[in-house]
Amino acid sequence: MAALAEIVAVGIAIGVIPLLIGFCPRFLFANRQRFWSQFGGGMALGFMMIFFTDLIGDSGGLGESLGLTMSPTQITLAALFVLGFGVFMMSSLKGTASPSSTAYFVAAAIGLHALGEGIVVGSNFVGQMQIEELSTVIQGLSFAMHKFLEGFTISIFFPSNPRLRNVLVAALLGGIPLLIGIPLGILAYPFILANFLFAAGAGAAVFVILKITLLIGQNKPDITTILGFLVGFLIVYVAALIHFTVLP
Ligand SMILES: [Zn+2]
Repeated sequence: MAALAEIVAVGIAIGVIPLLIGFCPRFLFANRQRFWSQFGGGMALGFMMIFFTDLIGDSGGLGESLGLTMSPTQITLAALFVLGFGVFMMSSLKGTASPSSTAYFVAAAIGLHALGEGIVVGSNFVGQMQIEELSTVIQGLSFAMHKFLEGFTISIFFPSNPRLRNVLVAALLGGIPLLIGIPLGILAYPFILANFLFAAGAGAAVFVILKITLLIGQNKPDITTILGFLVGFLIVYVAALIHFTVLP
C-alpha cells in the first residue's frame, strides 16, 4: 500500500496544482475585462456542460437506475441534489456584497464534488475500488485537465483586481476538499458517500451554471462567447476521451 503522503502528493500534483494554473489566464487578461467575461464565461459554460453531466452520471443518475423504488438511497441522492443547489443559492443571495464573495461561493460549490473525487482517488490507490481512475499517466493528465478548467471557472469570478487573498481563499475552498477526501477513501468509508457528494455537487453545479450565465448576461453575448463555449467544451471533451479510450 502506497504511503498516505505519497497519495496526497499525487493529489496535489494532478489536482491542486492544475487548479492553481487554471487561475492564471485571469491575470493575463486583467486589463480586458469585457473580453474576459465574454470569452471566459463562454469557456466556463462549455466546461460545465460536461462537468454537470458527469456528476449526474457519477451519482447513479440521482438514483434513477433504482426505478421508482423510493428507497432511502434514492431519496437521499435526490434530496442532496436539491440541497446542493438550494444551500448555495440561498447563501449567495444572503451573502455579503463583497465582489469576491461570488468567487468563494463558486469555489466551494466546485470543492464539494472534489471531496467525492478524493474518496475515489484514495480507494483506488489502496485497491479497494476497481475504478481505473488515475492509474496511468494519461488518466492523470485527463484528471489534471478537468482540474485546470475547474480553476479557470472559479477565476472568472475574481474581482477586476484580484488580490493574493482571493487566490488563496479560492484555492483552499476549491482545492483542499480533494486532499481531505483521499484519506477518507483510504479508510474505506462507505463508497456511497462519494455518490452522495457527487449528487450534492451536481446540484451545486447548477448554481455555478446560473452564476456564469448571469455573468455573461452582464454584456451582450457575442461571437467571443460562442468561441469560448466551444473551446471549453472541446478541452473537457478531449479530457474525457483520453480518459475513456484507455479503459478496457
Ligand atoms: Zn472535478
